[in-house]
Amino acid sequence: MNAWQVAQRQFDEAAAAMGLDDALRRVLRVPQRELVINFPVKMDNGRVRVFSGYRVQHNITRGPAKGGLRYHPSVDLDEVRALAMWMSWKTALLDIPFGGAKGGVACEPGTMSERELEKLTRRFATEVAIFVDQRSDIPAPDVGTNAQTMAWFMDTLSMHAGYSMPAVITGKPVQIGGSLGRQEATGRGVTTIALKALSKLGIAPGDATVAVQGCGNVGWVSALLLAEAGARIVGISDVHGAIWNPDGLDMKDLGDHLTRTGSIIEYPSASPISNQELLTADCTMLVPAALEGQITAEVAREMKCTVVVEGANGPTVPDADLVLRERGVMVVPDILANAGGVVVSYFEWVQALQAFFWEEADVNQRLEGLMRRAFDDVDAVAGEQLTTLRQAAYSIAVEKVANATKVRGIYP
Ligand code: NAD
Repeated sequence: MNAWQVAQRQFDEAAAAMGLDDALRRVLRVPQRELVINFPVKMDNGRVRVFSGYRVQHNITRGPAKGGLRYHPSVDLDEVRALAMWMSWKTALLDIPFGGAKGGVACEPGTMSERELEKLTRRFATEVAIFVDQRSDIPAPDVGTNAQTMAWFMDTLSMHAGYSMPAVITGKPVQIGGSLGRQEATGRGVTTIALKALSKLGIAPGDATVAVQGCGNVGWVSALLLAEAGARIVGISDVHGAIWNPDGLDMKDLGDHLTRTGSIIEYPSASPISNQELLTADCTMLVPAALEGQITAEVAREMKCTVVVEGANGPTVPDADLVLRERGVMVVPDILANAGGVVVSYFEWVQALQAFFWEEADVNQRLEGLMRRAFDDVDAVAGEQLTTLRQAAYSIAVEKVANATKVRGIYP
């Protein structure tokens, strides 16, 4: 099953469970708009390469389309469709007035120079400008992109407009209208939700051991903040491999090693293990924070953790969900657990539109309030309906998008 088939199956199950009207089901099951662009970039060696880029707007009933831009070799139309649909549910679940979108370019940013990445971003921004605007579609960072990518994107659209457009994209540097706290927002939200989950299970943070898959924006910040909250980070991985220390990793020392070498592997105070071993290792909590499709049914059968907090989008496939449910492993779904990024992206958009910027403490406090409330809402529905947290989150989110669609009516 690819990511899009997973996303559609999750939606079909939610629609069936809530008895969603057939017409609404057909409307919400597919993306509203899809843009595919094949565009040339002149590389440093003088040769021209043609890249494929995508922007998909799944649903814009509740507000402007919102969702990140991914630079990764796996990017294709189906992956972007899945990520866009998940954004529609995430913004609805958190009650943020945005629709769902996603975009990306199939490329390997790690093998490209800064100059090549800038050219690719500026050309891609120009091509997607027919979709993207501060009123209609607001991108953000995702795998393989960062604040610098957002700055190039914003500068390109601003140059075309003839004036500065800080609200056209989020996750930008603070000097050009970014929000304090945005960089850490997804990991901070994951941490708030992880602590809520531990509290529900009656486990004190100091008694929890945590393994984190992925060491980028989401994984690394989640690991740092969970360690700050008292949890023991016993394992972490990146694309090159994983490391394990049952006594807990010294996050400051590991951070220095990561900055120095660019990877967590070969860290001297831990044992090397495989990524697969990390996923099935003995720990209280697993935070998958890399890519989709990592927890298959086979992996799920071997997992030893008590709770999974999905930092990544779509890390658990539906068959694995069934296995984890049978085995009594709590799974906090992506559309809840990693929503901190889009929450602070919303704050950034509001601040940029008003040209009035908030203190970091205000951003973090509002973020924590929204995340805690969303967890409580999902937990209450799961309790009432005797369902998993994912089914509860979907039933809340899909209902909100369906109701908005119904009340607006079918045009014309
Ligand atoms: P990133 O590019 O900053 O980091 C990705 C990390 O995953 C890197 O450390 C990379 O080495 C690692 N990785 C890649 N393939 C791996 C593999 N097979 N095994 C182990 N590690 C692997 O990306 P990110 O922004 O941290 O995003 C990670 C996930 O979180 C994605 O699913 C993304 O969609 C989701 N997400 C991101 C944000 C955000 O604000 N950045 C918000 C919500 C959700």
